[in-house]
Amino acid sequence: MIDSHAHYLDTAFDADRDTLLRSLAGSGVECVVEAGTDEESSLAARELAHEYENVYFAAGLHPEYAEKHGDIPAWLPGLLMDGKCVAVGEIGLDHHYDTPSREVQRRAFALQLELARSSGKPVVVHDREAHAECMELVKAFPTVRGVFHSFSGSAETARELVKLGWYISFSGVITFKNAVKTVQAAESVPLERILTETDCPYLAPHPFRGKRNDSTLVKYIIEKLAQIKGAAYEDIERVTAQNARVFYGIA
Ligand SMILES: [Zn+2]
Repeated sequence: MIDSHAHYLDTAFDADRDTLLRSLAGSGVECVVEAGTDEESSLAARELAHEYENVYFAAGLHPEYAEKHGDIPAWLPGLLMDGKCVAVGEIGLDHHYDTPSREVQRRAFALQLELARSSGKPVVVHDREAHAECMELVKAFPTVRGVFHSFSGSAETARELVKLGWYISFSGVITFKNAVKTVQAAESVPLERILTETDCPYLAPHPFRGKRNDSTLVKYIIEKLAQIKGAAYEDIERVTAQNARVFYGIA
């Protein structure tokens, strides 16, 4: 299995990061994609990816860190040239807190979509309570492909993304008892467009909700998808891992 979105640089892993990353292969986790959220974490994600063979990374400016009157961050294009950089991300819109302002977030998102277009990299989108606005910007860049990570939109939005050639990534949220909408979204998209992720240390799946998450718990998401799709665990594991390899261009 592949963890298509993680944050191993989080301080939650300070005590055992090295041991954990080295143990993943033995737990059936083929590789992980560390997602940057600003300059510091994107540069550190590159370091992590160079230290561990099973770590790849995405570099970008998360909406929370979007800068007022920002241009394309000067540090970003160079990072995208790195052999282990597999995407621009995570980028997007977060209307939960609305800081920085929607206008500032929107500008940063559009600039980075443009960078994805010119560099040919896929994007990893963070969409929190901004489904319509994210879709509008995605459609403005028809040659860019990407994934909506920890998908929280409707089945309709999921189907629309699939039609545009995009992927949908499900996190531990899909295992939560109140995840009716997320389950419906998974039901309505073809397995060939589904990725699995932890977003660790956050979003640990049931029955670990609230605890520290790590990539070994991707198996609970695969289990849930197998139940939703009426398919064997092994088939979901094989297909979602292959999807992640194709999407990120991992050999
Ligand atoms: Zn994330």
